Amino acid sequence: MKLTFAGTGSAFCMAAENFQSNMVLETTPLGDEQPQRLLIDCGSDARHSLRNLGHLPNDFDGVYISHLHSDHIGGLEWMALANYFVFDGHRAKLFAVKELLEPLWEHSLRGGLETSDHGNSQLSSYFDVVPLKAKDGFDWQDMHLDVIPVPHIVTSETTMFSYALFGHGAKTSFFLTTDAIFNPAAHMAFYQKADIIFQDCELGPRHSGVHAHYDELVTLPDDVKAKMWLYHYQAYDKPDAKADGFCGFIEPEQVFDLG
Ligand SMILES: [Zn+2]
Ligand SMILES: [Zn+2]
Repeated sequence: MKLTFAGTGSAFCMAAENFQSNMVLETTPLGDEQPQRLLIDCGSDARHSLRNLGHLPNDFDGVYISHLHSDHIGGLEWMALANYFVFDGHRAKLFAVKELLEPLWEHSLRGGLETSDHGNSQLSSYFDVVPLKAKDGFDWQDMHLDVIPVPHIVTSETTMFSYALFGHGAKTSFFLTTDAIFNPAAHMAFYQKADIIFQDCELGPRHSGVHAHYDELVTLPDDVKAKMWLYHYQAYDKPDAKADGFCGFIEPEQVFDLG
């Protein structure tokens, strides 16, 4: 099982050489020659970032959606239509918590996908939709993935959650924060039990409050930082993360062998 970062940028990352933070989880099942791939989030950059990795939209057996910001779902219309029209109706499973599915369709995708050559379409016209319950997580190939609601935007009126992943690999476990506020009390149990932490990390002068900022993450205990890789960052000069005790900033197209 390996995890490849198609990009490591934030939603608004202006770097020409980086893309939004979407990842490819890939494994080749025993006795099978064909790799199975799960795309973790499909942002507006996915058409380009996946092409750079050598992937076409029909190379994916599944797509997991963490939340409804366009750097995580903005590429789904492209994937749906490309698979439908160009790749003989290839269908990927679409994994997302049940709460996200109706707003994903009604507020984000319906305008572009509803009217098609075969009449009115729905999400299930393009994808094999797998509604998830956060408490159950899901299995993908030989890995179980826990789905963890994490507050991403907290206002006086509402809280927008993202759904982080904790992957139980045969040899290696990982915690992938997706987009989350700095929340060490809630995350510490996952930080402690993971072998590798993939942590969204804001850089620069603005502390948005919707992601953990580097200045906050640097205060975490040394044993947590020692297994923490940083991603979802802006195109500012990076601090010396290794000197501060982290594993470092993930580079675009970096691959992690999860055993
Ligand atoms: Zn994001
Ligand atoms: Zn977000």
